Amino acid sequence: MSRAYNFCAGPATLPEEVLRQAREEMLDWQGTGMSVMEMSHRSDEFVAIAETAEQDLRELAGVSDDYAVLFMQGGASSQFATVPLNLLGEKSSADYVNTGIWSKKAIAEARRFADVNVAASSEAQGFTTIPGQAEWQTRPDAAYLHYTPNETIGGLEYDFVPESGGVPLVADMSSTMLSRPVDISKFGLIYAGAQKNIGPSGLVVVIIRKDLLGHARPGTPTMLDYKTIADNGSMYNTPATYSWYLAGLVFKWLKAQGGVAAMGEINQRKARKLYDFIDTSDFYANPIEPRFRSWMNVPFTLADDGLNAEFLKGAEARSLLNLKGHRSVGGMRASIYNAMPEAGVDALIDYMTAFEKERG
Ligand code: PMP
Repeated sequence: MSRAYNFCAGPATLPEEVLRQAREEMLDWQGTGMSVMEMSHRSDEFVAIAETAEQDLRELAGVSDDYAVLFMQGGASSQFATVPLNLLGEKSSADYVNTGIWSKKAIAEARRFADVNVAASSEAQGFTTIPGQAEWQTRPDAAYLHYTPNETIGGLEYDFVPESGGVPLVADMSSTMLSRPVDISKFGLIYAGAQKNIGPSGLVVVIIRKDLLGHARPGTPTMLDYKTIADNGSMYNTPATYSWYLAGLVFKWLKAQGGVAAMGEINQRKARKLYDFIDTSDFYANPIEPRFRSWMNVPFTLADDGLNAEFLKGAEARSLLNLKGHRSVGGMRASIYNAMPEAGVDALIDYMTAFEKERG
């Protein structure tokens, strides 16, 4: 068996150790004679798996008891509606910052429920930068301030946590969760689709300050009310049990790597290597203002778009997979989440060097 280096933006590569353990436990989880996939979510065994996963996540991310941790479904995209349904309360307006395609999707969905104020946008700069907070036109009566710490498609990442005054700060951390240390206490709510740094798809993790629970607007579907989920330990209905279990294995793996601080250092090193290489080459380019370049998603273009197909074919032949950029922006994108070993980045740089020599 040989494992490729998979640079997919999500579902993304998982730690090999995690997949091996899942294989080991596939038919018989710890002597139960069952796969986790076949277990009742109400069984003692699964409840223990679920609670351990939550505890490990709390430890890794530094989540205090002031917050509830929810394991929901419907992907990060469902959160685009769930957030306004729950957080608007008596208010009607919310502030959003527009830094790319995922911000725009969140804004479009929120507009179905709220008077959305785009407090700042870098659209005029082609989403290559993040507007300084001094320029943001936030409103003190906004129910919350929403932003996207890492734009997965554009490869644009905040290097700061915005100050939101007394307004709850809401973050779509789908592609940056657990990749570097973050002070959770600055946030009202964080959500993250699992399929990048957490586990397989089918799960979305929500971290919500407990005082924000219980304010869903009338008519909110039961399953979309965070309070329902919190009051029922994320088991109001059948949760995504296998994804939850695998996320738990990923959390254990992350702890064994030294946790989020250690991972952050590795991630910064991996990203810097790749950007440094791109910057020293005349053949490859990345348009993002260096300060805001994503540690997780590295988009790059070739000097001649006509060589894209050949580049991808050669990459595949070397088991460097899923480097094609998002259909909306073209070019290439290397997603280098926690589970992408540094050797994968080295292999990519070796290939890019060879390709440039031959075709550049
Ligand atoms: N937000 C961000 C930042 C994302 O990267 C993605 C998925 N790539 C989404 C939201 C949507 O996630 P999902 O497919 O889980 O709905």
